[in-house]
Amino acid sequence: MKWDGHTHTPFCYHGSQAAQELYIDRAIELDFERYTLSEHPPLPQGWIDDIPLFKSLAMPEHELPDYIEHAKRMKRLFEGRIEVTVGLELDHLPGQLDFTQAIVEKWHQDLEDVVYSVHYLPTAGGMRCIDYTPDYSREHLLSYYGTMENVVNEYYNHVEAAIEWVSQLPMRKRIGHINLIEKFRKALPEIDEQQMRQRLETIIPLLVKKNVGIDVNTAGSRVETCGKPYVPEWFLAECRKQGVACIYGSDSHKPEHVGTGWEWFAKKTGGIMNRGDSK
Ligand SMILES: [Zn+2]
Ligand SMILES: [Zn+2]
Repeated sequence: MKWDGHTHTPFCYHGSQAAQELYIDRAIELDFERYTLSEHPPLPQGWIDDIPLFKSLAMPEHELPDYIEHAKRMKRLFEGRIEVTVGLELDHLPGQLDFTQAIVEKWHQDLEDVVYSVHYLPTAGGMRCIDYTPDYSREHLLSYYGTMENVVNEYYNHVEAAIEWVSQLPMRKRIGHINLIEKFRKALPEIDEQQMRQRLETIIPLLVKKNVGIDVNTAGSRVETCGKPYVPEWFLAECRKQGVACIYGSDSHKPEHVGTGWEWFAKKTGGIMNRGDSK
């Protein structure tokens, strides 16, 4: 099945205001058969202390019902042409897991897909984004954790906790962009490949055991400081071998992003996404 499993919508405050139909029309043009809407849900008040930044990260709380309604409307509107699925890119919120739990409890009947992502790490100054800008990462993460090695270790600790947490959800679920920590790799001190590989090697059996998939997120290829997908090729191959659901995701923030990186994904996988793709 040709499926884009991670996309954003006009409800994204750091994306584009382009009409939703333009994204889905593009997916149809590219012969996609399934298209998952996976918008960022609201964050807890005060999650990030920088208010303009906080406001750009996610929709305000009162908009979530409108978003779910929007997604269901798109599903109906495109029925017969492409299967639109209703989803969210839920955040792993250390210390506030009950906030995300409450969203799931309220909306689980509508939610078909959950992309579960680590976007934040704790510091003495509060929660910080890992994917905002290189300067921000240097100022707020590197300065606090001291070395890239420590940042990377902390990041994968959170990814492991995220796999544990999301495994309890009843709908299809996958870990968003598992190597998002590489987003600014060319602008920050080098990340030790060996360390990354070791951490990812222990994550594979956890994904298998917990029956959690991966979002094979190609957005990193569009980012100059990264230049490659957020899933290493060896990791993708090993996940596929072990039966982990490997779902392509463009992480589109504008219509022209839809389907980007699909050719790379198809070359690596034959377009086959393993378990979880047919459910
Ligand atoms: Zn994300
Ligand atoms: Zn996303």
